[in-house]
Amino acid sequence: MTVFFIGAGPGDPDLITVKGARLVERCPVILYAGSLVPKAVIERAKPDAKVFNSADMDLDAITKVYTDAFANGEDVARVQTGDLSIYSSLAEQVRRLDALGIDWQVIPGVSSFQASAAALGQELTLPEKCQTIILSRASGRTPVPDKENLKSLAAHEATLCLFLSATLIRKVVRELSEVYPISWPVAVVEKASHPEQRIIRGTLADIADKMHDANIRSTAMIIVSKVLGEQDFVDSKLYDPTFSHACRKARVVDGDTVNKEG
Ligand code: SAH
Repeated sequence: MTVFFIGAGPGDPDLITVKGARLVERCPVILYAGSLVPKAVIERAKPDAKVFNSADMDLDAITKVYTDAFANGEDVARVQTGDLSIYSSLAEQVRRLDALGIDWQVIPGVSSFQASAAALGQELTLPEKCQTIILSRASGRTPVPDKENLKSLAAHEATLCLFLSATLIRKVVRELSEVYPISWPVAVVEKASHPEQRIIRGTLADIADKMHDANIRSTAMIIVSKVLGEQDFVDSKLYDPTFSHACRKARVVDGDTVNKEG
């Protein structure tokens, strides 16, 4: 018996992995995060599967679903939003499972930061401009360790993807404006990959008002980065004809065609 933690993806039911979908189809017990996991994913379950929504459960109630399934020798598909490596409460659930001697596995999913970048049609790294992505959140009711405060993260000028922060946008803007000019680009994607997806583009100067006017308060990704809309960058080495790598030899060196091997 195994508990399979399955990343369901950001909302579009087609964005679950084949492996995750097959597990939902065959597991006799399904426990899904009802607030964000699309119903269409759960509709793949066998007609006689026991299906539970974890939205109104606490950790003890969730653990009881696992122990009951363990007693019956039934595999569990534990379906959560996006990918399990980010703000998923995976760690506390598997700590309980380990203590109980129950096997578990994680099936990765498409995270909402990736779906948001896709919605924007945006590469989040640009050659020689930005080679780092920081995934974080603003501190609100859930505290963030002081060393991870937004001001210190902003100092890297990396692409910043902020989860769980839509209602804290004014605080986000205030803290980031201490480091960046107010013309710094920001994009917000609400419900990326859902039919009702919305995109708002702006800067530190106007994004909070734009979000307020659009009434965006949840299920939104805030991306703060100089790469947004940037056209002034060099081509990458990946397809550079003068650059050799494991899969391709340099074809041109200083403008000359290179034919020899080795
Ligand atoms: N594990 C999830 C994140 C869960 S935390 C993942 O990998 O995506 C919940 C937060 O994720 C939300 O507050 C929002 O910031 C973000 N989020 C989840 N689904 C989203 C979507 N479809 N579009 C934009 N942001 C989303």
